[in-house]
Amino acid sequence: MFDRYNRKINYLRISVTDRCNLRCTYCMPEDGVQLLSHQDILNFDEIVEVTRAAVRKGVDKIRITGGEPLIRKGIIDLAKMIGEIDGIKDYSMTTNAILLDKYADDLALAGLHRVNISLDTLDPEKFKAITRGGDIQKVFDGVQAAKKAGLEPIKVNCVIKENNQEPDALAVAKYCKENGLHIRYIKEMDLEKGEFSVVQGGSGGDCGTCNRIRLTANGTIKPCLFSDISYSVRELGAERAIDLAIGNKPQSGLTNVTGKFYNIGG
Ligand code: SF4
Repeated sequence: MFDRYNRKINYLRISVTDRCNLRCTYCMPEDGVQLLSHQDILNFDEIVEVTRAAVRKGVDKIRITGGEPLIRKGIIDLAKMIGEIDGIKDYSMTTNAILLDKYADDLALAGLHRVNISLDTLDPEKFKAITRGGDIQKVFDGVQAAKKAGLEPIKVNCVIKENNQEPDALAVAKYCKENGLHIRYIKEMDLEKGEFSVVQGGSGGDCGTCNRIRLTANGTIKPCLFSDISYSVRELGAERAIDLAIGNKPQSGLTNVTGKFYNIGG
């Protein structure tokens, strides 16, 4: 499907949970978050129905996100249900890799093609501070497990403050080179202030060629990350919600004062 700015919309990002096993300082507030209740979260059949509807409309790229998708109970079953949908050419997951060592083989068997992994530093103490308690060794183990399972190419999302010459970014870039990983630099974003930039090494944040819509964990289709526009699939049905989202996709992002990264999926 094309939107009114003649952008081909072929990419659906699916947030399967607003929960996470980390508390990254640029994503989650220190004192925790008001989590969605179980009945507010889409069940597997609802997620698959929306995905099928999107694929019928020309979507061929699917990214599973969160929160942290690997903490969603039954995630391998869901990954398999989505993996069985004909017409998906690029099927990936964004994960903090803390549980990837445990799930990599099953994700590959479920039909997942590749993973994007979040890593902003190689310093274990800095990693623990940024993630409020995370163990970086689990990320390294997850990377090796993903390589062994063939979930490649592995892309690394490295959040930077200003530029990719920051010491942590340089260290992560060296690690990626040594391990055959593809680094992308994401400048810290602010939804409410409307602060965002093009992902270096990726396509995110480039409004002129934006090809994506998002399904939030509580079942709304969002045409744009930096907008408050959203359409409920439970109220409107998957087809109509997708049509309205693409039909009303803004030319470029502005601000988003209603959503959070952890329940939209970045
Ligand atoms: S801000 Fe909106 S239009 Fe721009 S790239 Fe992001 S999702 Fe696309």
